[in-house]
Amino acid sequence: MSDKKQIFLAPCSREHKTKTYEHFESTVLDGVDTDTYPRIKSSGFDEKVSVWGTVSGNEVHWQKLDAGDIVLFYTKSGVYTHLAEVVDTEYDEIIGDQLWTTYDGKRLVNDLEEPWPFLIYLSNVQQVEIPAKDVHNALGYNMDYPQGFIRPTESRHRTLRDDFGSVQNFIQRYTNAPLSESIRSVEETIEDLNSRLSREPKLETTVKRTPTERIIRSSAFRRRVRDIYNNSCAVCGARRRSPQGAPEIEAAHIYPKKRNGSDDLRNGITLCKLHHWAFDVGWFSIAEDYSILVQEAKNQRGYEEFRRLDGQGLRIPEESQLRPHKKFLRAHRTIHGFD
Ligand SMILES: [Zn+2]
Repeated sequence: MSDKKQIFLAPCSREHKTKTYEHFESTVLDGVDTDTYPRIKSSGFDEKVSVWGTVSGNEVHWQKLDAGDIVLFYTKSGVYTHLAEVVDTEYDEIIGDQLWTTYDGKRLVNDLEEPWPFLIYLSNVQQVEIPAKDVHNALGYNMDYPQGFIRPTESRHRTLRDDFGSVQNFIQRYTNAPLSESIRSVEETIEDLNSRLSREPKLETTVKRTPTERIIRSSAFRRRVRDIYNNSCAVCGARRRSPQGAPEIEAAHIYPKKRNGSDDLRNGITLCKLHHWAFDVGWFSIAEDYSILVQEAKNQRGYEEFRRLDGQGLRIPEESQLRPHKKFLRAHRTIHGFD
């Protein structure tokens, strides 16, 4: 658990660095479509995720980033205009180049002088109006604007905490939006999900979470479930990968997420796009003995090829503890009229 939320300062002034600001608009404010960039954390995220990046000179600061930390964006003279919470980080030169290349052939253009391979995944992006002098005073800086991507030192954070109690208290003076308290990283969440395998699962999630916590949990669920099933479809065994090598297999909730279905790992299976769709609409379900059930009655086009799956065994993990739990399978059968 990261019990000490930190602030990071990210300059992207629209007055001086127009290209940087355009990038900020497209990859942080609009967010990046993970269908277009399947390499992004092997698409552990939902359809869209906000991403920022930095150059190698800032690696030391970047390494200190932790889930739930706050990045303040300086886009206007004298003001931090946006904040976002950190979800995860990753080093990826290819994604960095795809997202933020302003090379003209080999020549660098505009104000982006270097690649940004140090990625920062963000959520809870909010528009704020925090005077730069407030932030800098609180952190004991004597400067007008941030000269680069900065992680203020521990002693600067202490200065802020002495005056305001916590980073959260300080930030909350400028926004009403809820911020995560201390939260687990994706890796820590995966450990947490693993540790729950020995307990009786709950069908639904009842815990209230901030947007950042929800993204982290769903990212952890997808990554771990895909791992358990070796990135292959539990029905047909397909192991399709994108041209860049990212798995195109989806981690599905057996008892659906839209009904608040639990992120217990035993509520997950991996399916190819076709079988995921068919499973979610109830064209097939799964019996207690992990055989595939297909309904007789359906007369839709394309249903013929599903009828052939009837009675076929699901490809399940060897370790019985990781297999779909009967509670979720039963709930799926009930929703779709198999039981
Ligand atoms: Zn399949």
